[in-house]
Amino acid sequence: MSDVKMEDIISLCKRRGFVFPASEIYGGLAGFYDYGPLGVELANNIKQLWWQAMVRESDNIFGVDGAIIQNPKLWEASGHVAGFTDPLVDCKNCGARHRADHLAGTDSTDLKELKELLKDKACPTCGKKTLTEPRFYNMMMKTWVGPIEDDSSVAYLRPETAGSIFTNYENVRETMRAKLPFGIAQIGKAFRNEISPRDFIFRVRELEQMEMQYFIKPDMQKEVYENWRQFAWNFLIERLGIAESNLQWHEHDEKERAHYAAAAHDVYFKYPQGFKELWGTHNRTDFDLSNHMRVSGKDLQYFDEETKERFTPYVIESSVGVGRMFLAVLTNAYHEEEINGETRVVLKLAPHLAPYRVAVSPLLKNKPELVVKAREVYAMLKKEIGNVMWDDNGNIGKRYRRQDEIGTPYCVTIDFQTLDDNTVTVRNRDTTAQERLKIEGLTEGLL
Ligand code: ATP
Repeated sequence: MSDVKMEDIISLCKRRGFVFPASEIYGGLAGFYDYGPLGVELANNIKQLWWQAMVRESDNIFGVDGAIIQNPKLWEASGHVAGFTDPLVDCKNCGARHRADHLAGTDSTDLKELKELLKDKACPTCGKKTLTEPRFYNMMMKTWVGPIEDDSSVAYLRPETAGSIFTNYENVRETMRAKLPFGIAQIGKAFRNEISPRDFIFRVRELEQMEMQYFIKPDMQKEVYENWRQFAWNFLIERLGIAESNLQWHEHDEKERAHYAAAAHDVYFKYPQGFKELWGTHNRTDFDLSNHMRVSGKDLQYFDEETKERFTPYVIESSVGVGRMFLAVLTNAYHEEEINGETRVVLKLAPHLAPYRVAVSPLLKNKPELVVKAREVYAMLKKEIGNVMWDDNGNIGKRYRRQDEIGTPYCVTIDFQTLDDNTVTVRNRDTTAQERLKIEGLTEGLL
């Protein structure tokens, strides 16, 4: 378990505008959340960093943004219609449904093994020993396309973004004149009808994924798999500032692996509820392209001009949820500290992740000369930095505490000395130290 409590994170998210329950005024909807003004900034910063590292810094990884709803044949070919399942048990007494593997405390989804482990278990909701035998349940969300709601118009909300990466493999290869190895990356929403959504934004029914499929010659699979595994680990530490002690490797055994994977390694993060999956690297072999060739009848084989060989590329996948990364970043950054006998909550976010880089205040909001000067500094910083907040609410101590809670690295205060010498007080979030900097060149001092 992490020292940080989930209820503290949830409360901070609600109090400060990071995350709200979806349709809260109607009592919410289990497994759905809305991101508020600060949350959307943090999530965007996370997505931009991933896109930067994955696509912009790479010579051979290209982006796409596919539709959420695709031809349902895609999900038949990918095996999701038949195999995208989780094991569940029903309670005959109270009707509650539970994830069988979670209840049994195992990663295995083998029905025989689960039956054995659950034989004396009581329903966690009503306490009665009235659970059914475990069975599989499909997690894809369905809808209808067009005005007629029948079997011929059924479509699925994508359960992962990878689907339209595979169906665009040939389009991207051709238009970008790409040679193997190359990758296709995508950030977007996915939907999973999770049996028991829980742990705040950790397990939700509408999620956002950042996925990249790397197409390779089959003989490169081991080396490339190791590289993408390492990429995930390094990104978390180097780009997001996550402490290495909060990370762990977890290798899937045969019983845990998804239907498409020949090997899978997850990076686990130490969430408030314990070490859990954050980021998966999977060897999907030629499973997807072969099945899309079979079902669509289109040739997706690769012709290697040097060796004159024709083959189906293998795929190494890197897949991570934006929400799980967001929760990991918040958990990693959350600190409660005692300063001069007072407790403060401080989010020690890497400055490039913080929703606001700087907050600007006049020392007193009823002194027009201070307000005018502070507005000038605010306008200058906003133009040069962008995500800058104006904060003149309450006394200066309260403002610092509020900015600490949302992870703002610097607070700039305009006081009477500013009017004399054009310097401002800059207060550092982590050390709480204050120094005077000149307004001229202030942006460079803050970045
Ligand atoms: P889990 O075992 O936790 O259900 P999974 O192994 O099914 O996850 P993948 O299919 O590998 O997950 O999905 C890739 C990534 O998408 C995960 O590593 C995770 O970050 C994210 N993800 C998957 N399911 C959810 C969910 N229900 N809510 C939030 N994020 C999710």
